[in-house]
Amino acid sequence: MSCHDTSVFRDLFDHSFDAQWVLSADMHIEHANEAASMLTGYGVEELVGQPLSLLLPPKIAKSHGAYVAHCNKHGETQGVLGEPRRFEIQARDGSLIPIQLKAFRLDGANGQRRFGATMVDLRAQVRLEEEQLHTMAQLKRLALIDPLTELWNRRAFDEALDRQCALVSRHHSAAALAMIDIDHFKQVNDTYGHGAGDRVLQLLAAHLKKIVRKEDMCARLGGEEFGILMPACEPESAVVVIERALQRVATDRFDLDDGRSISISFSAGIAAIESDAAPDSLLEHADAAMYRAKETGRARVEMWTPEMGSAFANA
Ligand code: GH3
Ligand code: MG
Ligand code: MG
Repeated sequence: MSCHDTSVFRDLFDHSFDAQWVLSADMHIEHANEAASMLTGYGVEELVGQPLSLLLPPKIAKSHGAYVAHCNKHGETQGVLGEPRRFEIQARDGSLIPIQLKAFRLDGANGQRRFGATMVDLRAQVRLEEEQLHTMAQLKRLALIDPLTELWNRRAFDEALDRQCALVSRHHSAAALAMIDIDHFKQVNDTYGHGAGDRVLQLLAAHLKKIVRKEDMCARLGGEEFGILMPACEPESAVVVIERALQRVATDRFDLDDGRSISISFSAGIAAIESDAAPDSLLEHADAAMYRAKETGRARVEMWTPEMGSAFANA
C-alpha cells in the first residue's frame, strides 16, 4: 500500500470505533468522524469548522482560546499532548461526558501544523467505578453496623474500645465502658413472639442512642446485650448516665406492632477505663459487674470493683 493512498487512511479514520478529530493550529475542527458525531450529538457537518471550545465545559471553554494562543506562541504543548488524559466534554444536549483524550501533533509535509485527537467514551467505565465505590461503602458499613438495630456492631465496638484504651493511656484521661443486658428477655420472646422481641431490641437501641451523651458510642454486642463506650467520662458520671438510661427505659412503654405495649428493664455493669487497661479485661470486668447486677435483683447498675473478679474467671 502506498502511503499516498490517503483514502485508506481516511476510511480508517471514518470507521474508527472511537471519536477521531483533526484540528487546525488555532483549534478549529477540520475533520471529525461518525463516532465523534455519536459522542457529541452534533452532525459531522455541524462540527467541521467549529472551534474546539464548542465541546468544552463552559468553565474551560472561557480560558481555552488564551491557552491555545499561549501554547502556539511559546511552542508549549505539555499537559495535553502525548499521554492519554481524562477530561470532560460537553455534548450538544449540555450533558458532560467523561472521555479519555489522546492528542498529538500532525505535522504535514508542507510544514503546516495540525493536531489530531482520539477520544474514548468513558461513561460506562465511570458508571462502573461509581457502582464499585457505592458497593465498597455499603460493604464497609455492613461490616460495622448491626442490621437489626442499626447500632454499631461488636467489631466496631471492639475497634473503638482499642482506640479508647490507647487514648486513655496516652493522655491519662478518664473513660468508661458499660455492658447492658435486657432482663428476662426470653419471657418477651416467649410471651409476644420472636418478632416482637426483635421490635423491642430496635426500640431499645433507638432509646439508648437518644438517652446517652452525643459523644458516647452505642453498640449491639450480640443477642440482647448492648455496650456503651463513654469517652471523657469519670466512673461516677458513667454510673449516673447509665442509671438515668435505666430509669427512662423502665418507665417508658415499648409499643409493639400489634398495638400492645410492654415495659422492660435492663441490668448494667460498668468498668472504668484506666491507663494501660487491656480491652479484653475491661469487657470481662463490665460483664462481671453486670452479672452482679443480675444476681442482686436486676434493673440495677453496678460499677466493677476488684472483688468481683472477671466474668470468665468466675464462670
Ligand atoms: P436475664 O435477665 O438473666 O438476662 O434473662 P434473659 O431471659 O434475658 O436471658 P437469657 O440469656 O436466658 O435469654 C436471652 C434471650 O434473648 C434468649 C434469646 O432467644 C433472645 N435473643 C437473642 N438474640 C435475639 C434476637 O436477635 N431477637 C430476639 N427476638 N431474641 C433474641
Ligand atoms: Mg444475655
Ligand atoms: Mg438478658
